[in-house]
Amino acid sequence: MTSRKPLGRYRRIVIKIGSALLVDRKAGLKKAWLDAMCADISGLKAKGIDVLVVSSGAIALGRSVLDLPSGALKLEESQAAAAVGQIALARAWSESLSRDEIVAGQILLTLGDTEERRRYLNARATINQLLKIGAVPIINENDTVATSEIRYGDNDRLAARVATMTGADLLILLSDIDGLYTAPPHLDPNATFLETIAEITPEIEAMAGGAASELSRGGMRTKIDAGKIATTSGCAMIIASGKTDSPLSEIENGARSSWFAPSGTPVTARKTWIAGQLQPAGELHVDDGAVTALGAGKSLLPAGVRSISGLFSRGDTVAIIGPAGREIARGLVSYDAEDARRIAGRKSAEIAAILGYAGRAAMVHRDDMVTNAQIRSKSDRLKKDASYA
Ligand code: GLU
Repeated sequence: MTSRKPLGRYRRIVIKIGSALLVDRKAGLKKAWLDAMCADISGLKAKGIDVLVVSSGAIALGRSVLDLPSGALKLEESQAAAAVGQIALARAWSESLSRDEIVAGQILLTLGDTEERRRYLNARATINQLLKIGAVPIINENDTVATSEIRYGDNDRLAARVATMTGADLLILLSDIDGLYTAPPHLDPNATFLETIAEITPEIEAMAGGAASELSRGGMRTKIDAGKIATTSGCAMIIASGKTDSPLSEIENGARSSWFAPSGTPVTARKTWIAGQLQPAGELHVDDGAVTALGAGKSLLPAGVRSISGLFSRGDTVAIIGPAGREIARGLVSYDAEDARRIAGRKSAEIAAILGYAGRAAMVHRDDMVTNAQIRSKSDRLKKDASYA
């Protein structure tokens, strides 16, 4: 069960900070808030805890610097705003942390840096090196080059990805809402607050509403998605309000917040990476026999595959869909789509004769697969509010 531990008992903490906390539409950067946050970070570091910050605010700050009118921005406008805002944001973090002699290092990630294994490992190595030398990585999405198809669009899921990538044991999402309610509290007077969430069930998912405010992109939905990514790999998550000064101290003092328990059986780092993939390259539709086999921890054999969709290459991530149309697992496929189509429904012993070479017996090997119990259930995680475009 979720036991609320003092923050000082965690080893590595990722703190995600929403735009609205750092940037005021009129006044720009909220310097006093940032200084108080950095003092709290310094306190954690003094206890030997590694701290990583995923800071939003580039676009909001750029908007304020450029004095852009309110309302939705075009993609190129938000990219330009991010370019202007990010430089100011990084500088503000660096200056504020340096008051306690803490060094900041800027990391800008795109979706590809977490989705492609090689780039993922590179990014992880850099972040780990920064932590090793005692620096605080200040991370954001590289909004200036990310276009709508290849971007996270929200820093909630990016922060969860960073948490799993670096083996953090706590992710704190600070925004303008103090936690998860059974329904959006501003719409439903009967909404009740949930203090602890032992498991992210479909009921919990159903409680997530849409986007929160104009300045911040992530609503409760992306926070729950983040929770799934984080808790699957054994990382606890807190959703708390950052509206007060020193929200970390407030959490320590028992401020209202929602705590998500880490999964009791974290999967391996490789499976964590597979489970957190946002865009499977294709789908394998399987029969009931395959569903039973996968449930028993077996590999997916070609014989159980009824049909295939998508254009994927060997090694890509594919979603495995049961007869009822639900995703039941996700894994790295052993064949290119064209070859997979040719051997679908056939016995493994026939593979060599059909393809002309001896491939793997499994279409998706169990070592390369995470089943539904371990992954978030929806494959439409990139379909988000129009405000992301
Ligand atoms: N990366 C965006 C920015 O820095 C924020 C995304 C979000 O609000 O989650 O402006």
